[in-house]
Amino acid sequence: MRVLVLGGTTEARALYGLLEQAGTRFGVTVSLAGATRAPVLPRLAVRIGGFGGVDGLRDWLVAHRIEAVIDATHPFAVRMSANAVQACAQAGVALLRVERPGWTPVAGDRWIRVADMPAAARALGATPRRVLLTVGRKDLLPFHHAGAHDWLLRSVDRPDAALLPPGARVLQARGPFDVAAEDALLRTERIDVIITKNSGGTATSAKLEAARVLGLPVIMVDRPPVAPAPTVADAGGAMAWLECLYAHVSSTRREV
Ligand code: NAP
Repeated sequence: MRVLVLGGTTEARALYGLLEQAGTRFGVTVSLAGATRAPVLPRLAVRIGGFGGVDGLRDWLVAHRIEAVIDATHPFAVRMSANAVQACAQAGVALLRVERPGWTPVAGDRWIRVADMPAAARALGATPRRVLLTVGRKDLLPFHHAGAHDWLLRSVDRPDAALLPPGARVLQARGPFDVAAEDALLRTERIDVIITKNSGGTATSAKLEAARVLGLPVIMVDRPPVAPAPTVADAGGAMAWLECLYAHVSSTRREV
């Protein structure tokens, strides 16, 4: 069965491992956006870069005779997910989304929940604060005019200087992070507030635990709405769905 995995996440990497073990029943291509400079690559066929919108993806699916698409992109990668829904519908290809559950606050958390990045910038207020900004490289513009804060931006790759808030320092790091290291970072940098997306998962959740212990507020950007599709929470669920589809397709082929 020919499968396309839209990747770029921890769940996608877990799925690559399962697919590598599954052997030759699945002919897998992994697709990455090309946004990360040194991505973790699987031992599967990989293509890198956009498809050219819905039409480009549909044509690619048809040309490569893809029978199933697993959208394991990040919960904030909503354009790619929307394109996958439309392109799969047009090409008649089965689609499954892997979406890890979002984080939810627990006792002791001081979250300020906001809908998007401009709202996160506004929520900082005018009083200068020491901010740990962990929203990635793409969404920095709203913070340019957010006030005279002291910014520490953490991201896997260094953002273009023009995108950085004035005076921002950059800490290049790739998760997973642990609580002790996050605690040390927050203390050493005397951070007053963290801004993060509600990415969910365990790779980057230690900062929330460290903030809770230190009593720090967290400005939490809620997930954007995403085009509806059948969804599972993890790589195991995706693999079970693929096995089921494989069995169904195989039995249909035998009947024909
Ligand atoms: P996006 O805004 O939803 O997508 C923008 C465009 O990038 C898409 O229209 C598509 O271009 C291309 N693209 C995105 N994911 C792709 C993939 N896996 N393979 C091929 N093309 C892809 O996505 P994004 O937020 O920029 O995320 C880009 C990648 O980084 C995704 O793989 C995502 O899983 C990963 N990531 C994102 C975040 C985040 O916070 N957004 C965090 C961690 C990892 P075309 O229209 O030309 O096909």
